[in-house]
Amino acid sequence: MRCLRCGDVRKGKEKPRRMCPASPPESPPLADRARTFSKAAAKWIAAGRPVRSKERMRELHAICEACPRFHDHACTLCGCPVRRSGVLRNKLAWATESCPDDPPRWEAEITAPKSS
Ligand code: SF4
Repeated sequence: MRCLRCGDVRKGKEKPRRMCPASPPESPPLADRARTFSKAAAKWIAAGRPVRSKERMRELHAICEACPRFHDHACTLCGCPVRRSGVLRNKLAWATESCPDDPPRWEAEITAPKSS
């Protein structure tokens, strides 16, 4: 089933999103998204690639799904992919990542070591 307002596709018995915006919020430009992703990846690698549990990822995904900045499996505030599962290219999997909103809707579980 595809939402006629936001284009989100739901399969099987998945419920539709609760906060479907009439027009999706704009994502940052591609260059900004690439820069944000590179910084996040460097921080995650420096911390030893810590990964959240599947259960915690599902909890955070539910928070993102209810957020007006969530669209098409991504956060439109930072442009990062936000998925229920999977480690690569998934902001929710990397335990060094936090929500970019102000105030954040969820926090990083591990802080990356400071470079000297
Ligand atoms: S990361 Fe934060 S701002 Fe982005 S969609 Fe999730 S809850 Fe919303």
